[in-house]
Amino acid sequence: MIHLTELPLLRGTVEAWRRAGERIVLVPTMGALHRGHLALVDHARTLGDRVIVSIFVNPTQFGPNEDFSRYPRDEKTDLANLQSHDVDAVWIPSVETMYPHGFQTTIDVGDLAKHLCGPFRPGHFSGVATVVTKLVNQVSPDIAIFGEKDFQQLQIIRRVMEDLDIPVAIEGFPTVREHDGLALSSRNRYLSETERAIAPKLYETLQEIAAGARSGEPIDELILSAKDKIKKYGFTDIQYISINNEFNLDKTDKIESHERVFAAAVIGNTRLIDNLFI
Ligand code: AMP
Repeated sequence: MIHLTELPLLRGTVEAWRRAGERIVLVPTMGALHRGHLALVDHARTLGDRVIVSIFVNPTQFGPNEDFSRYPRDEKTDLANLQSHDVDAVWIPSVETMYPHGFQTTIDVGDLAKHLCGPFRPGHFSGVATVVTKLVNQVSPDIAIFGEKDFQQLQIIRRVMEDLDIPVAIEGFPTVREHDGLALSSRNRYLSETERAIAPKLYETLQEIAAGARSGEPIDELILSAKDKIKKYGFTDIQYISINNEFNLDKTDKIESHERVFAAAVIGNTRLIDNLFI
């Protein structure tokens, strides 16, 4: 596995692959890798000849009161995991490489960023869109893979790549979960033992909403009773629970064929998100 930290070396490596006619797949991550990330990597292996994983904790997608400085970082374990998953190269740029002195151009995401997490994380999706655009331009992969765990992010990236004519195919990958249903997340390691026991209730509640919605129960009543339950389980805040169209992410109370239920809730100092196809 080649360990790349400088842009000219990255470019030289991918250019050589491209000249050899190889198909390149990029998996962007912020590190602190878990089975969910590694499932994306294994999927990448099936889609191309070369797999490159980026690890970059992007400061511009964290708000001033968010967890950028305490976000888990574990490069040694990450590298060992990627090596054992047959990754060809890992791209670990510094903050200065990504945002050199004078950097000032960002992507303004449209309506897709106004829903769900958008209002709770001002500037987040602009930060994500900008860094992913940079990573894709640096690597110029044929395919880039993103998890459905961050479904809004996945749809925003699809839109940005299409709107800006960036020639990459965006692949979504289903959410990988713990045995009790909790979606794997680097942030799960913040949870205390008590909080960890409560956390899977979020997914359980989303499943109940999805089942109720499928059998035609009124959406507003389902959501109200779900919020009530989530509070009783011990979540400290519910930012949203709602059903939205998969493509434009507009909120809806009609189940047709492209709806998902989405939630963001806080336990103690940890914010969890999840979503489920209805
Ligand atoms: P992150 O390191 O949190 O930025 O995540 C890197 C990529 O892994 C993103 O495309 C995430 O959506 C994806 N990802 C994170 N957790 C999971 C999971 N539990 N299942 C599937 N994909 C995931």
